[in-house]
Amino acid sequence: MDQRRQLLDEIASRHGTPCFVYFMDDVQTRVHSLRAAFQGLFGVSYAMKCNPHPGVVSRLASWVDTLDVSSGGELRIALGLDYPADKISFTGPAKSHEDLELAVEHAIGEVVVESVREARELSRIAQGAGKVQRILVRIAPSRVPKGFGVNMAGRPCQFGIDEEDAHEALSCILDLPGLDLVGFHIYSGTQCLKPDAIAGNYQLFIEIFRTLCEGHRIVPQKLVFGSGFGIPYHDKDRSVDAHAVAELALPQLRAFKAEPRFADTELLLETGRYLVGEAGIYLTRVVNRKRSRGSEIATFDGGMNHHLGACGHLGMALHRNYRLFKVSAQSGTAAGAPRAFDLYGPLCTTIDVLGRGVMLPELQVGDVIGIHCSGAYGVTASPAHFISHDLPVEVIVEGTSPQLVLEISSRKRHGEFARSSGVGACGDARVRPREGEE
Ligand SMILES: *Cc1c(COP(=O)(O)O)cnc(C)c1O
Repeated sequence: MDQRRQLLDEIASRHGTPCFVYFMDDVQTRVHSLRAAFQGLFGVSYAMKCNPHPGVVSRLASWVDTLDVSSGGELRIALGLDYPADKISFTGPAKSHEDLELAVEHAIGEVVVESVREARELSRIAQGAGKVQRILVRIAPSRVPKGFGVNMAGRPCQFGIDEEDAHEALSCILDLPGLDLVGFHIYSGTQCLKPDAIAGNYQLFIEIFRTLCEGHRIVPQKLVFGSGFGIPYHDKDRSVDAHAVAELALPQLRAFKAEPRFADTELLLETGRYLVGEAGIYLTRVVNRKRSRGSEIATFDGGMNHHLGACGHLGMALHRNYRLFKVSAQSGTAAGAPRAFDLYGPLCTTIDVLGRGVMLPELQVGDVIGIHCSGAYGVTASPAHFISHDLPVEVIVEGTSPQLVLEISSRKRHGEFARSSGVGACGDARVRPREGEE
């Protein structure tokens, strides 16, 4: 850890803050251990929306089985990386006509259909192009076990076709020309840290998949399980042990695969945050210090504009501090026992709070802190344009010293990001020393 802290300190001084650092070796280990835990029963699908940085995706692409994109923009990123189109699925509750056309044009693996209306539109597009588009139908279950931080089940929602309506909807969809229904998709909850709830949820998925396939005589090629795996954002959270989930889920998965209808079905575990979340650190630097009415206040160069989640505004009811630590080495004069700090981002709004009452060693202007669990839903899920600060630097770390590779991308101007859906165009550069150094 201390070695890593030193590396982060170096990255912060060399490449500047605010900055996201992604440790790709950690991601690779995570993918492999997830796969190993389920003993080959599950393939792995990376839900790209949690971190669509081309440098991250290009590496992950070779470790996972499929990529799931959530927009035309993400589809273009994946295609721009020369990722095979037939291994891409496209989920999302509001795909535009152009998005669907793009999917058909490139003959992507599957469009994940979220409504009968969308299926009709896709059918017309495919027919018009003289093609047959493979689809999965996304089902919205009526329940999810307790313990999911995010739960989309059993209430009105924009995602998928309600379990209650699925039979009727399928009768329509199966009749549509130009579509080939190859399976189903469920993603009904996430951020769960309880193995029994995660495995219990897979059991619900299995029951739904079985009922629909039997009812409509479908022998599915593919079934996608939204993983539900959470990550330990807060102090008392514990990482999910994939083996503990597998121990509970494997018997039910094996029994399922033993049914002739499902013997050749590819089962995929779809996840985002579990693969990359814990591999990312957000670095932000103190730009102001003061005391206010008895509280020690530190204000940072980056906050909610890059990290909505750390500020408690990404789907949580209450703000709980993310786990964080001081990166800067302790200077002699500043040493002393940790004490409570209130940490604020740079925005002119009261809700830009990175932490309250966080116990840290003395903080001075120029000191850097690192926020854990920042590899997923960071800048990509944040109001980066508010209030016109620069976008963060993003650093991809591969290997360990002395074979360390740093890939730096800084998108200083907002316009750059919008224009950079092609990959090489993203401003990525393998940076050894910076210009002017050495
Ligand atoms: C966002 C999303 C995921 C990934 O969710 P995580 O919580 O990051 O694991 C998976 N599938 C779909 C369809 C999604 O929209």
